[in-house]
This record gives sequence, C-alpha cells and structure tokens, in this order.
Amino acid sequence: MRAKRIGALLLALAAVSGLAGCGTRDPDEAQESIQVIAMDTAMVFTAYGERSTRAVYDAEEEVRRLDALLSRTSESSEVSMLNEAGGKAVPVGAEICGLLQTAADYAQATDGAFDITIAPLVSAWGFTTDSYQVPAQEEIDGLLAHVGMEHVHLSGGDASLDEGTMIDLGGIAKGYAADQVAEIFRSRQVPRGKIELGGNILVIGDKPDGTAWRVGIQDPKRADAADGLVGVLNLMDAFAVTSGSYQRYFEQDGKIYHHIIDPATGYPADSGLTSVTVVADSEPGNGTMCDALSTALFVMGEEKALDFWRSGRYDFQLVLVTADGRVVVTGGLRDSFVELEESGYEYEYVS
Ligand code: ADP
Ligand code: MG
Repeated sequence: MRAKRIGALLLALAAVSGLAGCGTRDPDEAQESIQVIAMDTAMVFTAYGERSTRAVYDAEEEVRRLDALLSRTSESSEVSMLNEAGGKAVPVGAEICGLLQTAADYAQATDGAFDITIAPLVSAWGFTTDSYQVPAQEEIDGLLAHVGMEHVHLSGGDASLDEGTMIDLGGIAKGYAADQVAEIFRSRQVPRGKIELGGNILVIGDKPDGTAWRVGIQDPKRADAADGLVGVLNLMDAFAVTSGSYQRYFEQDGKIYHHIIDPATGYPADSGLTSVTVVADSEPGNGTMCDALSTALFVMGEEKALDFWRSGRYDFQLVLVTADGRVVVTGGLRDSFVELEESGYEYEYVS
C-alpha cells in the first residue's frame, strides 16, 4: 500500500515537472533481479517492464552459453579445443571467428597492448589455476616468443594457432557478454535496467524514479570495502567497464602481482595506473570495445592512454586512477562524474 502511494506521488510530481513525457513510470512497473555466478564472475541482472522476468532469465542462459564456449578452464570449450590442437586447424563457429577478428583489430589498434595470445603468460603466473608463482625470466622469455596475433590464423570457418601459442579471451569475454545481454534486453523491450558482470556494467534507460543510474568507481586501495569509492558516474544507456590491478592478484616478498599482463614484458603491467574505467554509449559492440580498451589502456599507462583517447579513433571516455593518488577524468564525463572528497584523491579533468 505504502509503496503504491509513494509511486503515485512520484507520478504526480513527474507530471507537474513535465517529466511525464519521458515514458510513463508505472508505480507497479514489473521488476526482476537475479544473481548469477558465471565466467568466474559474480553477476547481477536487473530488468524492468512487462518482460523483465523473461529478459533476465534469457540473459542468464546466454552468459552460461558463452561461459561454455569461451572458457579456458573447461576442456570442451571451443577455445580449449583450439588451444589444445597443437597447431592444427580447428573448425570454429562464426561467433569465435568474429571474436578472434575483433581481438585482432583491438590488438592492432592498441599496438599490441591488448593481445589474447598472452594466454601462456597468464597461466605461467598461475592466474588460470590459482596456484600463483613468479616465473623464471627464461620461462617468460620462452613463452613471449609465442605471443603476437601473427600466430593466429583464420581461414574459411577454420582457426589455427602456431604451436606454442594459446589464446585467452578473458580480457574481452565479459564485454562481449554484456553486448549480448544488451541485445536480449532490447529485443524484450526492457525500458530500464542494469547489468553487472563484475567490473563490466551496462545501464539501460533511467531509474524508475527518473534519475540516472549511479555507477560507483571502486577505490583500488580499498577494494575490500564496497563503499570505498573514488567517485560515482551518473549514467543512462551506457557501458562502464573497469580493469584494475586489485581485481585479481597475489603478493610475494612484499610485491603485488596482478592479472593484467604487459605483452611487451610478460610481467604484470606496471604502468602507474591502478584502474581504468572506459565509458561509452550502449550501442552494439561497445561492451566489447570498453572491455578490450580498459585492459589495453591499463597496460599503456596514463600518458599513452590519454593520447589514445585524444586520437578519437574510438568514441569513449575515461576515468583513470593512478598509483600516486589522482583521479583523471576525460572531458566528456565532466557533468556525469561526482567526486567524493573523503576519498583523499586529487581530481583532474583533461581535454
Ligand atoms: P577482468 O577480467 O577482471 O574484468 P580485464 O578485462 O582487464 O579484467 O581482463 C583481464 C584478463 O584478460 C586476465 O585475467 C587475462 O585472462 C587476460 N589478459 C591479461 N592481460 C591481457 C592483455 N594484455 N591483453 C589481453 N588480455 C589480457
Ligand atoms: Mg578487459
């Protein structure tokens, strides 16, 4: 009863302030929210509207399908079959072919900072098995010889990897999944909703109260505290994807080793950044773009990342968090980014 009355009041307010034209906000608008663990990630799918239940369960089915297709740890996935083929050609579906092509495009665009053939290094550091270790320099050098997209071949419906080369789609898979879920929500006419695949977030429409969705940007230094934020982004119809050194790491002899590997060195990227958030509008393909670029720009570091942004090659905005305590926000987010003074960071806006 109470909820209804508040809802009615909101509608009345919306009408008074002339907001009613933005879409009728039915106080009883259906809503469904589910939590899913897939792709090694805790996910939350929230949808509003008549077909919200259908939308979130279809989304769950889709991420489970992608998990089975793209996982490196499941032996039966197409990715594992390719990795285990010992140099032979493997017939892969159109979807994997498309993803390999997309990955090659981002590798080229980022000068190799994003490179799915980093897989043997990710394994050598123990990130695929959770048995972490610092590999010997000779091992790193040996494995680096097999890194590079020139070792991946596509022809017809077949893909092959040179012997010793393996692929890891972990830097792009959740962004691609976000694109797929966005499509499912569109086809179910979901007017508003939010999906969170770990650090990959998609917001659709506005919140039921007519305001923007709030997407918190984690403070890498306080990653264990859910409210440890460096700022908040107010977003509608957007992807926001964060790559951070705090998301997966181990500590040895007082040093932190994280899961984003610099393909130039074979070591965890030591670029002076602790997180990179890439924001773009919710167009098809932009989930994948944000994911690939958040990983690549983390590897590049502040200066190169900002040069890349300024080049205008892709349409996106950035929030960079630096190890020396700054939060760098690109111009297009000036009105949507909310600083949190108590975070202790300094804020810079760049154009
Ligand atoms: P998360 O998976 O935490 O969302 P990212 O999108 O940044 O974070 O992806 C990191 C994952 O991508 C690593 O766990 C690894 O599987 C893979 N990876 C690591 N370094 C690179 C790289 N330089 N290029 C492409 N993929 C990478
Ligand atoms: Mg990524």
